[in-house]
Amino acid sequence: SRCPDTRWAWVEVSRSAIRHNTREYKKRLARGVKLMCVVKADAYGHGAAVCAPLMAASGADAFAVATVREGIALREAEVSKPILVLSQPPATAIPDLLAYDLMPSVYTTEFALAFGEYAAAGGRQGAYHLALDTGMTRIGVPWAEAVEFRRAVDFHSGLVCAGTFTHFATADVPGDWDWELQRSHFDEAVAALRDAGFDPGLVHCDNTPSVVLHKDTHYDMVRVGIGLYGLHPCEPSRDHIDLEPAMAVRARVTRCGWPPVGTGVSYGMTWRVTTSSVQVATIPVGYADGYGRILSNRAEVLCRGRRHRQVGNVCMDQCMFAVEVNQVRQYRPCGPVEEGDLVTLMGVDGDEEITAEELAELSGTINYEVVCDFGLRLEKVYV
Ligand code: PLP
Repeated sequence: SRCPDTRWAWVEVSRSAIRHNTREYKKRLARGVKLMCVVKADAYGHGAAVCAPLMAASGADAFAVATVREGIALREAEVSKPILVLSQPPATAIPDLLAYDLMPSVYTTEFALAFGEYAAAGGRQGAYHLALDTGMTRIGVPWAEAVEFRRAVDFHSGLVCAGTFTHFATADVPGDWDWELQRSHFDEAVAALRDAGFDPGLVHCDNTPSVVLHKDTHYDMVRVGIGLYGLHPCEPSRDHIDLEPAMAVRARVTRCGWPPVGTGVSYGMTWRVTTSSVQVATIPVGYADGYGRILSNRAEVLCRGRRHRQVGNVCMDQCMFAVEVNQVRQYRPCGPVEEGDLVTLMGVDGDEEITAEELAELSGTINYEVVCDFGLRLEKVYV
């Protein structure tokens, strides 16, 4: 595995996995249903400037980001497909929305009218998607007020409603009653808009779990995020689609040695050498790289095709692991490691694998947060 020039630690992103996963979702959509690829948070830590073009070439029809800055970065990466910002930014972002052709999610009449005013002054129309709150209680016009909202803003010639959407809070739980309720509120709101003569534009509500678990709510478009990166949002998803995890996290051993019995390791010396057959190795990955301090003395890493315990507190930029030369509990013996050896913190090495789910479980979080955090500082190497 190639190492970046400046650091012995990196995130490896598989281009073929991104392509494969995008095609897998696209294949499951009926003709005419659009695939909106969610590439917020720098493509869930995988690098949006590289991933979005790969997705565009594998069936993406549109992209979604969380912030205006993320949208601008996609345009700068020459992404030309429609881009939806999944939030309503402050009104001061309106010039950038129009300059970079980004559609905001809108749910206040004040913002809608300010957006329309600015667009009209430039002889243009501002396209937006109407966000409806159907039960998640996060953003959106309350679903029962959708028609009222359109009545209040539609007089403005500078505005065009290009879509109407909602977001499910429990799409990952098959048969969930709250999901059913959100879905019926959404259907009712869209029907009311049509009955009142308003064109809702593209109607969309499904996220990754919904695409495979709720096939009757694809409507005009689905918004897929986590699945594109090869991660399942929930266990039931595994039975429906074959995904390839796109991210691995690798490092090289920067130092190793045989400290005498009793030697403490790392801040606070929370782990000490107890036998003379243990080697302690250092890798340059720490909590500022997304390898949380909560993993200290709990996580495992792979080196030479074997699992090893991470030992001592994880530091900001480095951590250590123990290599057992004799069998210790579940740790199979391993020949000594050497400086420069490849270490896998997440991903496959030989017949061993550390998954994002394993790290998420140890950290008390979900795979989404694991990959987002690894993307923050580590350099990305695309393979
Ligand atoms: N749509 C909205 C509004 C979101 O906030 C998100 C992500 O959280 C998604 C779609 C994609 O969700 P997922 O990654 O579960 O597919």
